[in-house]
Amino acid sequence: AVKRVPLIAGNWKMNFDHEQAIAFVQKLAWTLKDANHDYDEKGSEVAVFPPFTDLRPVQNLIWSDKLELVYGAQDLSEHDSGAYTGEISGQFLSALHCTYVLVGHSERRTMHNETDEILARKVAAALRHGLVPVLCVGETADDLEQHGPSAVPVAQLRAALADVTGTPDLVIAYEPVWAIGSGLAATPEQAEQVASALRSTLAELLGQEVADATRILYGGSVKSSNIASLMREPNIDGALVGGASLDVTEFASIARFQK
Ligand code: PEP
Repeated sequence: AVKRVPLIAGNWKMNFDHEQAIAFVQKLAWTLKDANHDYDEKGSEVAVFPPFTDLRPVQNLIWSDKLELVYGAQDLSEHDSGAYTGEISGQFLSALHCTYVLVGHSERRTMHNETDEILARKVAAALRHGLVPVLCVGETADDLEQHGPSAVPVAQLRAALADVTGTPDLVIAYEPVWAIGSGLAATPEQAEQVASALRSTLAELLGQEVADATRILYGGSVKSSNIASLMREPNIDGALVGGASLDVTEFASIARFQK
């Protein structure tokens, strides 16, 4: 079987100003270290996705204290620079040494009308600037009823990767919209079924090597109580965590899940 380093990613959404962000990251690093005492396997990679205004202070802290954490932004512009008031370029994120950037979170798709075409350009922008896009896909409850489990996430993946070629460094987050913030997570079997369909699609579009290397996360009401069973599935390589990523103890125990 192919080994992929698990990624546990915390999407803070619009929570924590820069001072709260510093306090949180500091505490998270301590808690992870503590939890790591008798952790003998190679642990997960742990990433935080703070609001834009927190990124610089979070970078400073992680770098100055040499914390074993990485970070990314929650969105980026499809453009590199120019007259786009309020937008943030991938260039700027790259200058802050962001590793990742979320692309197409369901809240961006619905509240900010981000279409598949826009998201394809955002994926391209991320890759152009050396950022790893964490592409979010997922069906609504209606989609699920009408089209079954995998059709919409697979179609979203195809659309977002329309212009991608070569062997890009990507992460895919499968986030059923009905499971986000609802307390009702997909079952491990449901999540695995879609993750496996997404990986087959990656193989078809970009080849087996990229499909094998790409981490596919599950997101939607992940907690310390359900992470282990999700992580036992062969095609689930981590989690994108919303609500539970705002509680240090809870997020740290998700990151230090034991299979
Ligand atoms: C999310 O919005 O990415 C998410 C997974 O949220 P929650 O964990 O709160 O369901």
